Amino acid sequence: MKFATWIQDGVEEAGILSGDLRSVHSFKSLNLGYQSLLDFIMRRTSADMEKLRAAEAKGGTPVSAVALEAPIPAPHHDIICLGLNYMDHAKEAGAFDITADEKREKSVYFSKRTVRALGPNGIIENHFDINGRLDYEAELAIIIGKDAKRVKRENAWDYIFGLCCFNDISGRDLQHAHKQWYFGKSLDTFTAYGPYIVTLDEFKTPLALKIQSRINGEVRQNGNTKALIFPPDFIIEELSAGMTLDAGTIIATGTPAGVGAAFTPHRCMQSGDVCEIEIEGCGVLRNTVG
Ligand code: MG
Repeated sequence: MKFATWIQDGVEEAGILSGDLRSVHSFKSLNLGYQSLLDFIMRRTSADMEKLRAAEAKGGTPVSAVALEAPIPAPHHDIICLGLNYMDHAKEAGAFDITADEKREKSVYFSKRTVRALGPNGIIENHFDINGRLDYEAELAIIIGKDAKRVKRENAWDYIFGLCCFNDISGRDLQHAHKQWYFGKSLDTFTAYGPYIVTLDEFKTPLALKIQSRINGEVRQNGNTKALIFPPDFIIEELSAGMTLDAGTIIATGTPAGVGAAFTPHRCMQSGDVCEIEIEGCGVLRNTVG
């Protein structure tokens, strides 16, 4: 199933998209008492999942009548991110990122501050007054579905609610100047994800999904999630060994080669550019630079 959040008649609603992606069914319209998608992920029952499944085949409010937002617009934690998790990107990053290296013996984690996430069709603030190189990073995000503590890798997939397209938008000049990724990756609107979360049962594991970014229709990144050095089940086992990954946690798993800063001269985003992130089975996340 595909879960989303949207604005309808000025009110924020959450629920599912119909199977043909033409309509939405809010929790409220189905008499399910969830306040938000995060609330649903935390408290859902299998009986309610069945009600939603039954509604999936029916027509509802047309998607064209609502404005999709990020699936969880205000995540309850910052985003957990992996850096340099595809070898081709780890190599290209060596040229523009002073903190990058090609040794991938250990996973690299960092945090991305997210007060309000940008959803599909939202405008990326350019922040050109403090950062020149505004970059895109196509990533697969996983959304944790139940609290994970000391989870073994063979059971880790059971803890994933679903998958989503994610754009780890990055200010390369800030990243370089501060010798650390937190600030440059945490500016307002730099967490963009959506258009919806697709439940894990729609995918085969281990994952082998095409992942692409396009700028104004031109393909820049063209990878496959099977090339993830540290895949989702590894990440969940490693992190949950010491920190609880509670339901609703969002993990961005890293980006393949082809980011703008890796071109010479760089091909980062400019005002008016349309950036699309597409992952097989997860739809297209489209945003324009303001
Ligand atoms: Mg990234």
